[in-house]
Amino acid sequence: MADLSGKAIIVTGASRGIGAATAFELAQSGASVILAARTDSEIKHNAQQIRNHGGEAEAVMCDVSKYKDVQALISHCESTFGRLDGLINNAGVIEPIGHLATSDPETWGHATDINFKGVYHGMRAALPIMMAQHHGTIVNVSSGAAHSPLEGWSHYCAAKAGAHMLTLCAHKEAATSGVNVVGLSPGTVATEMQVLIKASGINPVSQMDTADHIDAEWPAKTITWLCSGGAAEYAGQEVSLRDETIRKQVGLAQD
Ligand code: NAP
Repeated sequence: MADLSGKAIIVTGASRGIGAATAFELAQSGASVILAARTDSEIKHNAQQIRNHGGEAEAVMCDVSKYKDVQALISHCESTFGRLDGLINNAGVIEPIGHLATSDPETWGHATDINFKGVYHGMRAALPIMMAQHHGTIVNVSSGAAHSPLEGWSHYCAAKAGAHMLTLCAHKEAATSGVNVVGLSPGTVATEMQVLIKASGINPVSQMDTADHIDAEWPAKTITWLCSGGAAEYAGQEVSLRDETIRKQVGLAQD
């Protein structure tokens, strides 16, 4: 099992789904965790659950589309735990789902502010600290949509492709300072996001059988593995949970 004792790690989008599972997994491995999202009650509940199981956790309300919120989040981690070892840029939205030709420019743009600029905001706030201390891990949660166009998801595909490029650029700038920046494409995961996708019926992903999605525990374990050394091997790359080699390295069951 990974040992992250003494490490302080922030997870965005930790109110549910992959982010919540990741916060639990990181805390189980000994990390002090900050859970961030917009829904205060959910992150507070998850943090309390972690503490009930003997872990160390704090909840910080944060909208990643707002740079001031993200700055405050990073500062809170430093002032509470006296350090910042990891940042998991996981927060994301799939809505509004719909064709580009009929999209509403405002909601389309706001989704991009979360899925793309949110990743930039996290790295912009965390990198100066990590580079100065000569260590740190940043995991940007990516998607197959970063590399394959899908109907009805123009903002999501474009934002995930952009975030993937941010991972590569940040790696070029930060690797020599001892910071590992890595992407994780989780495959399809049984979360609320997939419920919305299925209800839309708009593209082949929405036609998938729910039973074909993996459990959120898989990306959570993979992120924990990346934070405990795996990211050094794959820095500047995107790790995919569809890749058998990665699954084996993480110790996940084979299909
Ligand atoms: P989810 O269950 O819908 O959870 C999304 C999380 O993001 C929630 O905690 C949500 O919390 C948070 N969030 C949304 N907007 C936010 C904002 N502006 N600021 C802060 N937090 C925000 O989805 P999920 O499946 O766990 O997705 C997690 C990540 O995995 C996303 O980046 C997604 O694109 C990626 N991903 C998912 C799949 C999949 O099949 N599920 C596949 C590939 C990639 P609040 O609403 O409380 O803010």
